[in-house]
Amino acid sequence: MRYPEIILLEEKQALLASIVDSSEDAIISKTLQGIITSWNPAAERMFGYKEAEIIGQHISCIIPVDRLHEEEFIIGEVSNGRRIEHFETIRKSKSGNEIALSLSISPVKNKDGQIIGASKIARDISVYKKTAEKQDRLAAIVNNSDDAIISKTLNGIITSWNKAAERLFGFSEADALNRHISLIIPEDRLAEEEYIINEISMGNSVAHFETIRMTKDGLRIPISLTISPIISQDGKIIGASKIARDISEKIAIQEEKERLYNEVKLLSEKKDEFIAMTTHELKTPITSLSGFLQLLEMYYSSDTKNASIVRRCIKQTDKLSLLINDLLEFSKMRAGKLRLRYETFDMVQLVTEVLEAYKESECHHFVVNTKGQILIHADPLRIEQVVVNLVINAIKYSPAGGNIEISIWEKEGNVFASVKDYGIGISQELIDNLFSQFYRAVEPNYNIPGLGMGLYISKQIIERHNGTINVKSEISKGSTFEFMLPVSKVEEI
Ligand code: ADP
Repeated sequence: MRYPEIILLEEKQALLASIVDSSEDAIISKTLQGIITSWNPAAERMFGYKEAEIIGQHISCIIPVDRLHEEEFIIGEVSNGRRIEHFETIRKSKSGNEIALSLSISPVKNKDGQIIGASKIARDISVYKKTAEKQDRLAAIVNNSDDAIISKTLNGIITSWNKAAERLFGFSEADALNRHISLIIPEDRLAEEEYIINEISMGNSVAHFETIRMTKDGLRIPISLTISPIISQDGKIIGASKIARDISEKIAIQEEKERLYNEVKLLSEKKDEFIAMTTHELKTPITSLSGFLQLLEMYYSSDTKNASIVRRCIKQTDKLSLLINDLLEFSKMRAGKLRLRYETFDMVQLVTEVLEAYKESECHHFVVNTKGQILIHADPLRIEQVVVNLVINAIKYSPAGGNIEISIWEKEGNVFASVKDYGIGISQELIDNLFSQFYRAVEPNYNIPGLGMGLYISKQIIERHNGTINVKSEISKGSTFEFMLPVSKVEEI
């Protein structure tokens, strides 16, 4: 018969053994010489050694070489009857992986109370370590950020305040923590907070919200806010994080740009007014001058010296009239007063008539590529103006002479016309601005007169017809100007 105390003791030992076996922590015991005497299943999982292979081995097989000195310290403490708690260190597994552990080590005594070894409980803290490291990294990012980063509860109570927030708003972390966020919101913008909290409570972020906040000294600063919900581990929205960027500089640049834009606009309007006024003033005397010169021309018989002088005067006055007409056109366009008179006409005939009027000079030769009739619905006077301008330019900018090729063709409901010369050409970096007002791309040493208005006017006319105009050119090789117009009538703008 067994004594009840013995039964009790056996039961207790069985219970303790099952606790050790089922523990999630590795539980190991060893002699004071470091020889392993027990090794539970969690130790098997953690270090990869089976109980059978490790019992009787020295504990150093799981200690990295650079930490062997720790064993000496541990044995020293345990031999003196002292426990070691939460000793954070690194051990290595059978496959050589390092494991971050927290160790608790206690002396093991025999029946006589003599210390004969140590028991060790090892807890894997790799995950906790990684989380702590990650948190440290994130905290460093927040602290070193140039943007103010603030967090608050859903009731608006400030829960964190980084260094940049201190710099931007002038409140120290201690000043700001646990205060209401209205601390930095101007009174006239308090309603924004309600909107922000509403969005956050619904789980939405608010991005690039440009507003005004206030510093400790009462200074209003323009800032751009990005606010996101803070979500707890169980998925609840518990607050908001706010990143605030000072946009004073951006706003100042924007304001300066607006100011400059308005200034340029005003100057440009003044310039348009000036051109409109002076051309108007010039038009009347030039018209009477032309009239008088025509009378004089009739007065002198055609072969006299005076008659030749008068003819030269008429030629120069015609040039002046053309220039003034261009300026008048320009003013009309700038003021949006260009009226189009639509008619159906033959584009081929229009171009042919223009070419007849600008008969080939001795050194230029027109080559026309077109056939039949191409009807188009557009303003013939305006389109003629464009063709004249392109033909005159082709002549003007090929001073050495050569062929000037004019092509007209129809494709998919559009009429195309191109004027190609083999003249001085235009360098690529100047081409983009060619159709701007008063823009000239010609070298002064060519000595070719002009005001830089013809292509601007041409582009306006073509675009008012819903068409396009473009140029291809190569310096010293020549240029090709091409425009496209829809054949059918387009709505007037
Ligand atoms: P303008 O001929 O009075 O200067 P335009 O507006 O007709 O004005 O032309 C603008 C500029 O484009 C010209 O000054 C010239 O530099 C360039 N250009 C126009 N047509 C040609 C061409 N066929 N070949 C070379 N350059 C040209």
